[in-house]
Amino acid sequence: MVEASHPALVELLELQKIDSAVDRLTSRLNNLPEQAELDELEERQRSLEARTGEREAALDEVVARQRKLDTEVDNVGKKIAHEEARLNAGDIANPRELSAIGAEIESLKRRRIRFEDEDLEVMEERENLERELKGLTDQLEVLRTQVSEAIVKRDAAGGQVTEELEKFKERRQGWVPRVDPELLAFYDDLRRSKHGVGAAALQGSMCLGCHMQLPAQEVARVRANKGMSRCDECGRILVVVD
Ligand SMILES: [Zn+2]
Repeated sequence: MVEASHPALVELLELQKIDSAVDRLTSRLNNLPEQAELDELEERQRSLEARTGEREAALDEVVARQRKLDTEVDNVGKKIAHEEARLNAGDIANPRELSAIGAEIESLKRRRIRFEDEDLEVMEERENLERELKGLTDQLEVLRTQVSEAIVKRDAAGGQVTEELEKFKERRQGWVPRVDPELLAFYDDLRRSKHGVGAAALQGSMCLGCHMQLPAQEVARVRANKGMSRCDECGRILVVVD
C-alpha cells in the first residue's frame, strides 16, 4: 500500500471534494431538465415529421390516381367524339352497323360517367388529405419554433453549469501538483472502482465514504496511525478530520 503523511491525506481529501464537485456538475450537465424538455420536443417533432411524410406520400398517390382518371375521361371523350363523327358522316348505311355504333357510344358514355364519379371521389380524398397536411404543417411550424426556443434555454442553463464546471476543473489542475503522484494514482484507481469516491473523512467513528460506523478498535487503530489507512468496510482511504 502507498504510504502517506496525515497532511498529505488532508490535501488529498481536498482534491476529493473538487473531484466530487466536477462529477456532480458533469452529471447535472448530462441531466439538465432543459435537455429533457428539448429531447421530448424533438421526439414529438420527429414523429410529426414522419406522419407528415406518410400523408405526403398518400397525397402523391392520390394525385397520380386523379391524373390517370383525367386521362381516362379524356380518352373516352375522344373515342365518343370519333364514334359520333363516324355516325354523323353519313357514310354508313347498314342499320346493324349504325345500331352497333350507337350502342358503343352509349357504353362509352356510361364508362365516362363511371370515371367521372370516381374522379369526384378521388378529388374529395385529395381535398381531405390536403386539409390534413395543412394542419400537420401548421403544427410542425409551431413545434419547430418551440424546439429552437428550447435549444436556447438548454444552452443558457448548460452554459452556467459549464462555467462552474470549468472553474472546478481549473481548481483541480492547480491542486493536483500538491499530491504525490503515487498517492494520486492509487486514489484515482479507487475512485474508478468506488463511484468516484477514493478518499473519505473519518468523522467520529463513521466513514463518510460508506457511512458505516466502524468498530471502536478499528477507529482507535486509524486514529493512532498517522499515515495511510483504509476503511475495512469500503476500502476507501480514510482521513481523520476531527
Ligand atoms: Zn467506508
